Amino acid sequence: MMENNRQGIGMTSQRTRERLAKRLEERGIRDPAVLQQIRDVPRHLFVDEALSSRAYEDTALPIGQGQTISQPFVVARMTEALRQGERLGRVLEVGTGCGYQTAILAQLADEVYSIERIGALLEAARQRLRELRISNVRFRHGDGYAGWPENGPFDGILVAAAPAEVPPALLDQLAPGGRMVIPVGQSGMQQLRLIERTDEGLEEAVLDMVSFVPLVGGRQ
Ligand code: SAH
Repeated sequence: MMENNRQGIGMTSQRTRERLAKRLEERGIRDPAVLQQIRDVPRHLFVDEALSSRAYEDTALPIGQGQTISQPFVVARMTEALRQGERLGRVLEVGTGCGYQTAILAQLADEVYSIERIGALLEAARQRLRELRISNVRFRHGDGYAGWPENGPFDGILVAAAPAEVPPALLDQLAPGGRMVIPVGQSGMQQLRLIERTDEGLEEAVLDMVSFVPLVGGRQ
């Protein structure tokens, strides 16, 4: 039963997921390891059952508390940019949400540290990852603006909500050679930035224009 649920049937079947991976490839996702995770991670288990038939459409969906599960293309794009074809070491994720991006990162990194400010979302994500037997993730109910200094520095930092400016604490927690992917700007229209800490200092590139929920201070 559990296995059936995980594999999915009909609109959540392997064939449906394959179609999503194809679509992302056509839209420019090249990293085979990322495309494989799009096929493998059961996105339908991260949304409400009423939405599971739409789980493999390339679209953001509501997850409650006014938040959304990120669009698969954006998840893939961010993961690809963070990874640059190499296995990740220690990764910080800000904005766990339903835990879908977390699950993908967990397969591609040694350790994932994930922070979420809304307790109810965090608990649901924790439960899902436990059911999927993903055990290299540590969760924190807190404000991602401050990062997680006790566990830094990080080789990768992925931020899933948009601040007006890059939080300085996150830059401080970026290891030498590390990369951060972060949407920056006002609501509705943000730059998806890739920031790398090189020997010469911080290098920045704009990858795309995106639309994320805002990064909000404090916890709830
Ligand atoms: N990748 C997640 C994205 C969820 S939306 C998914 O696919 O489900 C972004 C999340 O960031 C929301 O759950 C929101 O509550 C959270 N968030 C916003 N501001 C935050 C902050 N300061 N610290 C931690 N999490 C934050």
